[in-house]
Amino acid sequence: MSSETQLRDQICLLAKSLFDRGLTGGSTGNISARTEDGGLLVSPTGTSFGRLDPSKLSRFDAKGRFVHGDQPTKEMPLHTAFYDTRSTAGAVVHLHSCHSVALSMLPDADHDNFIPPVSPYAIMKLGKVKLLPFFLPGDPAMGEAVRGLAGKRSAVMLANHGPVVAGKDIEAACNAIEELEESAKLAFMLRSMKANILTETQVRQVVEKFDVEWDE
Ligand code: ZN
Repeated sequence: MSSETQLRDQICLLAKSLFDRGLTGGSTGNISARTEDGGLLVSPTGTSFGRLDPSKLSRFDAKGRFVHGDQPTKEMPLHTAFYDTRSTAGAVVHLHSCHSVALSMLPDADHDNFIPPVSPYAIMKLGKVKLLPFFLPGDPAMGEAVRGLAGKRSAVMLANHGPVVAGKDIEAACNAIEELEESAKLAFMLRSMKANILTETQVRQVVEKFDVEWDE
């Protein structure tokens, strides 16, 4: 089996797993990954994560030209913004996941460090998550906002919409966005309680021990 065939299967398998666990519903969410030749495989527009067809993924070449497959997601500018600004990005995933969207709507949401430090794993896998404002669906300003971060963040949260996460490969990106949603769920559940979240010192220890990108 060629490596591209394997990658196509892996994209569809991981997308279905996210869908089956309710992490994005209907035809929401989109996913992309770098191919060995520097091109991209992207989920097509209007498709459900539960039923992606490996043979119909949108294929782009290394120069960003559409080659074949179905038409790509309308949220393509979000994906290319990450690839263009982060040389380490091998995959990008975007979900409409319930708890992170809920957390983005709270008036006291932290725009620079969106996920409260409920556990070390979100810190390790995501670094600081930037909360971006609300954009109309399909507004290219979403991609511009990601470019404005100059590659310093691997994860952003689009207010009232959903998270977008880049990873070194498709598995890393999916694991990281799951951690984002899980941590948002914990933070949301505990928002009105005096929960023991990690202290600044504990956060600093995690950042240093695991060499996390954590700009001040
Ligand atoms: Zn979306």
